[in-house]
Amino acid sequence: MLVTPDPDTTIVADWRDLALCRDSEPNLFFPIGTTGPAVEMINDAKAICSQCSVQESCLQYALQTNQEGGIWGGFAEDERRRLRKRWLAERRRRNN
Ligand code: SF4
Repeated sequence: MLVTPDPDTTIVADWRDLALCRDSEPNLFFPIGTTGPAVEMINDAKAICSQCSVQESCLQYALQTNQEGGIWGGFAEDERRRLRKRWLAERRRRNN
């Protein structure tokens, strides 16, 4: 089950400087498709994300800026789409 990130979470200003993926092969985080070789790439990227100290800020940034492609904050495109719908609903609820 996906847990909706808190829309009010503050993004660490220099999160990109601390990104663990900076030292990884960039293509790993932008696999083409979701089947075949892409499955291993997605799992490898997620494994790196799970060790990353700025995972939460990265995910918040991706949700706030509607990043459609790639792995962000440990979430693949399809997962992030579902997560963003819930995140937006939670944000709207809080602003009413
Ligand atoms: S959570 Fe993943 S995609 Fe985001 S900065 Fe860290 S390693 Fe990179």
